[in-house]
Amino acid sequence: MTLTDKQSVLIVDDEPGNIQLLAGLLRDECELCFATSGEEALEIARLVAPDLILLDVLMPSMDGFEVCRRLKADPSTHDIPVVFVTARGEVDDETRGLDAGGVDYIIKPVSLPVVRARVRVHLRLKRHEDRLRASALMDGLTGIANRRRFDEVLNVEWRRAWRSREPLSAILADVDLFKRYNDRYGHLEGDACLRRVAGALDGLARRPGDLAARYGGEEFVCLLPSTNLEGATALAERMRTAVLDLRLPHAGSTVGPWVTVSVGVATAVPADGLEAADLLRQADEMLYRAKRSGRNRVEAKPLEDASAVPAAAGGA
Ligand code: GH3
Ligand code: MG
Ligand code: MG
Repeated sequence: MTLTDKQSVLIVDDEPGNIQLLAGLLRDECELCFATSGEEALEIARLVAPDLILLDVLMPSMDGFEVCRRLKADPSTHDIPVVFVTARGEVDDETRGLDAGGVDYIIKPVSLPVVRARVRVHLRLKRHEDRLRASALMDGLTGIANRRRFDEVLNVEWRRAWRSREPLSAILADVDLFKRYNDRYGHLEGDACLRRVAGALDGLARRPGDLAARYGGEEFVCLLPSTNLEGATALAERMRTAVLDLRLPHAGSTVGPWVTVSVGVATAVPADGLEAADLLRQADEMLYRAKRSGRNRVEAKPLEDASAVPAAAGGA
């Protein structure tokens, strides 16, 4: 979806007159963009990620069926519904269009009210799907990203960091003595506390590419692309302070009067012998160290390339 609440439709037709006709019909209800060839349609679809594509079949160089197949084969455009609008009205054509991944097939000459009504139906379904997809990646209690989303992003960012040879950092934060918090204040207050902590952490992971997620229970994780250990540790320290500054009473805590978090930080530059999971393992070890050494503190350590360890040991 675009920034405005309006959904967007890409109209593809090699005949500008046809584009004008459909554009006039839909102008008031959605954002529109246009392409006059299959190649251009693929490019714009990737760039704009429209909510719906109205696709002509007969076009020079690449026909609509092929465009649709390519859209469906590309993960970045796979979920965009495609409606064929075409003069090719044989049963075989319609079957081919739906087999290629189209959701609907409208035969020219079109009835304008019917096209508009069908476009509305498909946009409504798309909005519903977008919401489902978003909620599948969101933590229901806190409203921030969930573990599934985090795992997806971690994989993408790990590969990106590998290519760019840039550091990738992870911060794990765990609420201190939270079992006692629940015992004392009740589970509902516990939930409210987690929401406040999540909000504080999420509010600080604000650079483009940063992601804060609920990792599970009372544990949160932040992923920081292009961030070295120093930068990540500084942010972790700000997160620790931000939670403390919420001043949520925690009478059962041995750490102090307020709710606190312990935080583990790790950084890696991806290399042979390292995996994304190693980064989290390292952050978890640092979190454990923070717990052992008194809680309400940050511990950090870079992740060394495992294959480099024997060489270093041999040189010592
Ligand atoms: P530590 O400082 O060592 O982390 O101690 P802790 O008590 O926080 O750790 P422990 O793992 O023993 O307990 C975590 C508690 O978090 C237990 C569990 O009931 C609670 N918890 C996990 N998820 C939720 C949740 O969604 N809501 C509430 N209210 N509590 C939760
Ligand atoms: Mg805890
Ligand atoms: Mg825990």
